[in-house]
Amino acid sequence: MQKPRIVLKIGSSNLCNGKIIDKTQIKALAQIISELKMRFDVILVSSGAVASGHTTLHIDRNTLQNKQALASIGQPLLMESYREALKDYAIPAAQLLLVWRDFDSRKNTTFAKDTIDTLLAHNALPIINENDTIATDEMVFGDNDRLGAYVTYYFGAKLLIILSDIDGYFDKNPHQYDDAQILPIVHSIPSQALEQTHSPHGDFATGGIVTKLIAADFLLQRKCMMFLSHGRKLDVLRDFLLHNKQSSGTLFCPADSQGIKTLI
Ligand code: ADP
Repeated sequence: MQKPRIVLKIGSSNLCNGKIIDKTQIKALAQIISELKMRFDVILVSSGAVASGHTTLHIDRNTLQNKQALASIGQPLLMESYREALKDYAIPAAQLLLVWRDFDSRKNTTFAKDTIDTLLAHNALPIINENDTIATDEMVFGDNDRLGAYVTYYFGAKLLIILSDIDGYFDKNPHQYDDAQILPIVHSIPSQALEQTHSPHGDFATGGIVTKLIAADFLLQRKCMMFLSHGRKLDVLRDFLLHNKQSSGTLFCPADSQGIKTLI
């Protein structure tokens, strides 16, 4: 029987600080992925190529050309770290680099999906990133949150997990307000929340909460779910997906859905 398919998206701030690639974190991710793979078919969307490139070449990362150059240095470094960590669990690491127009073309989407289906059938982990070297200014996803949402919907998953540098979605920015409260469950995103200015936290962060809300909105409209939680607190994800317990994080799911029960 086919396992339910889930997509895990991890942000740069969780993988790298510009000086080193955080191999301990990548090992922890490999471990939880091996556990999740017992129950689910897992696809990983990983940011971090530019930040990884910056560990080797210290050039200004604010111009598009430099970012593209850094990504092309960093992407193989990042993949090597994943390959090494996944080896302990006999999970082959596979790289797929996609751009916006791949989802505009039914042919390209089908080719990519067929590849993913084949990889998953052979216990491999598809690791997807934006193809930074050919993505041009207008067409860039800009962040991998939306790429994660597209991957989820177009490649047949029902749940996107976004691992961020924050515990979940709060009623206001927790870095600005001490009394911010986490929202455990959200059924719809008000349109004004989608129009806020971007608020990335940290040097290599690109999206901020807005791109996560845009991703959630895209998925909710298509009857899919999204779970936002902290990338350094992987037990929250373990509890949620393997023990049916939500100890933290925010679940975005349609009002008429049974939440995570629809998956398991
Ligand atoms: P990542 O790179 O891990 O994806 P980002 O820095 O891009 O993370 O996005 C998360 C950040 O969004 C948080 O650290 C926080 O500073 C900011 N933020 C703004 N408003 C909110 C909110 N209402 N709830 C949660 N985070 C928020």
